[in-house]
Amino acid sequence: MPARVVSQQRKFWRVAGAFGERLAEASGKLRLAADEGAEWPAVGDWVSVELRGAGGVAVIRTVLSRRNRFIRKSPGKKVEEQVIAANVDTALVMSALDGDFNPRRVERYLAQCWESGVRPVLILNKADVCENTRGLEAEMRRVALATPVFVISARTGQGIEEFKPLFVPGNTIVLLGSSGVGKSTLTNRLLGQSLQKVKGVRANDSRGQHTTTARELFDLPCGALLIDTPGLRELQLWDAEEGLTRAFADINLLAAQCRFNDCRHQAEPGCAVQAALCTGTLDLARLENHRKLSREQAFLRQKIDPEARSEQKQRIKRLTREAREIYRHKRPD
Ligand code: GDP
Ligand code: ZN
Repeated sequence: MPARVVSQQRKFWRVAGAFGERLAEASGKLRLAADEGAEWPAVGDWVSVELRGAGGVAVIRTVLSRRNRFIRKSPGKKVEEQVIAANVDTALVMSALDGDFNPRRVERYLAQCWESGVRPVLILNKADVCENTRGLEAEMRRVALATPVFVISARTGQGIEEFKPLFVPGNTIVLLGSSGVGKSTLTNRLLGQSLQKVKGVRANDSRGQHTTTARELFDLPCGALLIDTPGLRELQLWDAEEGLTRAFADINLLAAQCRFNDCRHQAEPGCAVQAALCTGTLDLARLENHRKLSREQAFLRQKIDPEARSEQKQRIKRLTREAREIYRHKRPD
């Protein structure tokens, strides 16, 4: 039976299909093949499952080809990618207009969105407690470039109507952002009921504490599907060179105007990047973050097994080619 993964908890999933909702585990074969890596079922994945008796645990046999997936480097020392959500149309990158406001973190998210083939939208939450909304919004727009920015309050409902058109029926939308920015509060507001637990500010945040890593896919009343990602503590980029190029398109455009092709934008004459810093059209913090993320990428690339990388690229190429073939055959002449 076909089904979609609606939540994941390491080695158990909840899947939904024509049969309703069931708890599921991976088949032995899938466990061997995927081994908790990139092919491991994630929220939003379409899977084929076998049902074993009424109310029993379903078995996930295969993960169907993904249209796209939002990935990050798995936390910790392991050099591995981790799929956060699969088959996503739009990513709502959420930050809060309180002490948590951090354009640098958003730059990271944007790079990963572009790399994953997911259209980003920026949400600035907690407008009700911010005294400098306009200033912070302007700062975020410089980071957003052409990405839409919405200012809201998940608590009071301010600004929610304006961005509701994003929720196209049938679309899957993933909600991204650090813990505490208001993802659960927004989810509940969009759902019209409290299904997602809102966390109070935690006094004790010690590392040993058990934190839930459940992620959930919700059916919104408007017909769109929303994936909340609680417990997403850090977002380390995974192989995101193209994503970085797009997220920092302004810097790359400037760099193309430098006098020297190999300009390092330090003290070279005719450097368009330095000129932009002087006139204030480019923020130094943004340039520095671009450098930092590029360095991170170079470091990661050295560590990613080149064979695995090229194998993966080949696989994606093949899948794209196959998909194109299918559409060619489908097209009426
Ligand atoms: P999550 O970790 O991203 O899911 O964040 P939560 O939804 O759990 O919210 C974290 C805290 O921020 C809670 O205490 C919420 O009540 C509060 N919060 C969420 N949205 C807003 C908002 O729009 N305004 C204000 N003032 N507080 C909010
Ligand atoms: Zn330069």
